[in-house]
Order: sequence, then structure tokens, then C-alpha cells
Amino acid sequence: MIAVLKRNASQEDKNKVIEIIRGENFEVHPIQGVEKTVVGVLGDPARRSNLKEKLQTLGAVEKVVLISDPYKLTSWNFKQQKTVIDLGDGVKVGGPELTVMAGPCSVENRDQIIETAKIVKAGGAQILRGGAFKPRTSPYSFQGLGEEGLKLMAEAREETGLKIVTELMDVEHIDVVCKYTDIIQIGARNMQNYSLLKEIGKLDKPVMLKRGMAATIKEWLLAAEYVMNNGNHDVILCERGVRTFGEETRNTMDLSSIPLVQQLSHLPVIADPSHGTGRWELVTPVARAAVAVGADGIMVEVHPDPQNALSDGPQSLKPKNFQLMMDEINAISKSLHNFETKERKIAYA
Ligand code: PEP
Ligand code: MN
Repeated sequence: MIAVLKRNASQEDKNKVIEIIRGENFEVHPIQGVEKTVVGVLGDPARRSNLKEKLQTLGAVEKVVLISDPYKLTSWNFKQQKTVIDLGDGVKVGGPELTVMAGPCSVENRDQIIETAKIVKAGGAQILRGGAFKPRTSPYSFQGLGEEGLKLMAEAREETGLKIVTELMDVEHIDVVCKYTDIIQIGARNMQNYSLLKEIGKLDKPVMLKRGMAATIKEWLLAAEYVMNNGNHDVILCERGVRTFGEETRNTMDLSSIPLVQQLSHLPVIADPSHGTGRWELVTPVARAAVAVGADGIMVEVHPDPQNALSDGPQSLKPKNFQLMMDEINAISKSLHNFETKERKIAYA
């Protein structure tokens, strides 16, 4: 960490800054420039942000800058090897193969989920998505079938062999969701629900953490750090777009975050172009782009009858379009293998 002192800082101010840093048991390395003094601070990273805030209250301090990353367990430097999450039966997230999670926004009834599961399985998806506890903007919108929906997801797994991913919204539903799901999804709205993150950190169940709609990359990785720091290292990140000023798309799909996060972290990154765009006709092009930038997988919403879907019909692919998307992303993924994608991180270093 470095503290930059103001141009007019007196010797007395400098001494005070140094005294405070030493008083907190940090090493001090002052550098006297022509115009300003910069103070290098070395010491326990866990206490760094406390000292940073203390220094920022001093009138003589212009700014305090953290040099190393605030996250540790999530960071690429910590592990320098990609995390591969093994869900069993040959289904992996983060390995050399692209992982596809597909299914309806919400589980609506038995026929709908079983039919969709068969469609996405036939198209080559490995994981069935479907919400049973739904975080809806309006309290009057369909809220999901709850445990009944989870049972139907489990039935669809029996029928197809697909793994399942479903959202957990609150601590009170941990047991019931864990009873059925293979991956717990933490939605965008809960990315910074730290008490929920701490609790799922204590579980032995893979977690997919969606990016909050106004979250920076740092906040997203620190949210993952909450889960890992509590013991659960099976974390998948999911870019689902962030909110900007445009109204033409539901969110702005931040494609650049995918290779950026892969540079900063060893965790797998999945792209969700359904919530990222909000429009079915944009889903396939953005899925292609996400695979091209190196996403470890894609999550998409698929519905046999989007016009009558109880949630997110406008962004759901019809079965035929899902199949087309699969053909296209598989072709892109295959061609990327020729460039040894996974080795590139090292080659570029
Ligand atoms: C979802 O995947 O159904 C969902 C609600 O996504 P998000 O949390 O990204 O809005
Ligand atoms: Mn949805």
C-alpha cells in the first residue's frame, strides 16, 4: 500500500503519518519526491484496509492506494491453476470442454420441465437450469413453485441424467435447496448478501455466483472470497450483464469481464446472455461472442413455448434456436481448442 502526501504537507505532518503507520506495526518506506512525499507501507494484509481508512482521515494525506489485490483465495496468483469443478458422471465446469446450462427461467409444471430437459439434453447441454424460488422484481409476478419445483427438477434429472442448477434466495431455504440441487445459484440480487454467502461457504456443494447488476469486478471477486474464505472452494462465476443507461437491452453484457476475471482468478466463468440481453434474438450472437472470448460455459434460458412462459419468455430460446446456438458455439469452441486456449494465460504472461 502507498500513501501519497499532499504537496503542502509539513515535516510535522509526515512524522505524524509515519508514527501512525509504525504504531500499527507496519513497516514504513518514505520516498521524498521533488513535489510530494510518497510513503510505502508493508505489513499484514488483513489489517491493511483498517490502516488505509485511518490514514485517509488525515488532512495531510492526498490518497492511499492498495497495490496488491484485496482478494486472496479467488486470485490467480494464489493458485496459478484453473479450478475445475467435478459434478460427477463426467460433468465438469472449468475443464477443457465447454459446459452448457440450459432450461427455463422458472419451473412451471411437470410437462414443461421434463420436455425442456429432454430438449436441452438432446442439444448437448450437461446441466438443467430452472428456478423454483424466484427473485421477481414485482411481488405480484410468479414467485416460483418452491419445493414442488425442486422435486420436478430432480425428476427431470432422473429422466435425463442432466445435473441441475437452481437459485437459493435465502438462508432459510438452504436445506431444502441442497437436498435437490447439484449447484446452488446465487442470483445477481444476492451477490452482496454477505450472511447468505457466509452460510453457503460452509456447505459442501458447488456454488454459481452471478455478478450483481451494479457490481464491479473487485466486488464480485470479493463476494466469491466470502464463500471460499468460509471453506467452500467450489465456486463458479457467472457474468449476466450489468445495468447501464440503455433501454434497448435488459442489461449490458460485459464480455470483457470474462477474460479479465480469468486473468485475475482461477475460478471458472460462465456467461449468461439471456439475462445479459433480455432479448432472445440477441442471445445466440452474444453466446457466440462469450465463447470466443473464452467463457468456460454458457447459461441460457430455453422454453418450449416462450410466448406463454411465466417468466422471462422474451429472452428464452425456442428449442430449434437452442439447437442452432449449440451448433454454433460448439464450432467456435472447437476452433479455439486449436489455439490451446487454456495455455494462453501462461503464454501471454
Ligand atoms: C435467473 O438466472 O433466473 C436470474 C434471476 O438471474 P439473475 O440473478 O442474473 O437476474
Ligand atoms: Mn430468468
